[in-house]
Amino acid sequence: MLKKRILSGMRPTGKLHIGHYVGALENWVNLQDQYNNFHLIADYHALTTNPDTTNIYEDSIDMLIDWLAAGLDPKKSPMFRQSQIKQHTELNLIFGMLITVNRLERNPTLKDQVRDLHIDNIIFGHLGYPVLQAADILLYKGDAVPVGEDQVPHIEISREIARRFNNQYGNVFPEPEPMLTKFARLPGLDGNAKMSKSLGNTILLSDDPETVKAKMKKAVTDPKKIRKGDPGNPEICLVFSYHKKFNAGEVSEIDAGCRTGALGCLDCKMKCASKISDLIEPIRDKRKYYEKNLDEVKDILADGEKRGREEAVQTMSEVHDKMKLG
Ligand code: SF4
Repeated sequence: MLKKRILSGMRPTGKLHIGHYVGALENWVNLQDQYNNFHLIADYHALTTNPDTTNIYEDSIDMLIDWLAAGLDPKKSPMFRQSQIKQHTELNLIFGMLITVNRLERNPTLKDQVRDLHIDNIIFGHLGYPVLQAADILLYKGDAVPVGEDQVPHIEISREIARRFNNQYGNVFPEPEPMLTKFARLPGLDGNAKMSKSLGNTILLSDDPETVKAKMKKAVTDPKKIRKGDPGNPEICLVFSYHKKFNAGEVSEIDAGCRTGALGCLDCKMKCASKISDLIEPIRDKRKYYEKNLDEVKDILADGEKRGREEAVQTMSEVHDKMKLG
């Protein structure tokens, strides 16, 4: 039986943090044997929030190194830049004819993005973001897309576009399903709902143990627990939410220690820092290998782009035939 296809992508923001890992990358690694995966470096999408492309290539390579270091296998899954496969833009144009502006304006993630990023003037790229995303997914005939809850409305738009194309011109595309990621969003060290480099509240996959400890020391906790001996409430503590993810085996003990006051916040944070360092140590070590072997990384990217392009050419040939544009 043919394996189903998955399209997953990230904007190239350089070195990745543990939020990227638990929200996406860990899941991608776990899925790579079960499915045919295509991994997109979404450099065109990055322009919607940052038009400055000075470091976009270096950031793409840095992100790719973290993908590889975290365990993505380039032999199983091609990894490629969106900008290097021109069929993304052609399919984006065709799909733009199959969806109304009204529909895109009703997209709830557009409103969230405008609010979260404090965008005063919406550019066409913001409105059309889900259309380009539909092109990204359907160019590779993605059956499913691993996403957080907030991205589900975009997948619904991809499904609508696939349906409209198939009805109008004939069957080419599957209707992709969202595959919800369990731990979709890790809060930042400052308590912000989102871990983000622009907010300065991250732990990077490449951070060494001393850096992880120093960052964890600054993490927000229950503000009423001032010193060891004070009872705390782990349910409102950011560090406790990290324990749930990175130190699941000790959660009950930490919960009890916090509530009785037997556990102090500094000790609790250092336990968490140690667990995070244990998790990222092999990734950091593998990253060092790829940093020393950049030509190998560039070859992996070139090979991924070749394989991605072959798929894209095949799909567009079917699109042209159905549309009688051949
Ligand atoms: S003891 Fe741990 S869980 Fe409790 S408030 Fe302090 S850091 Fe948070």
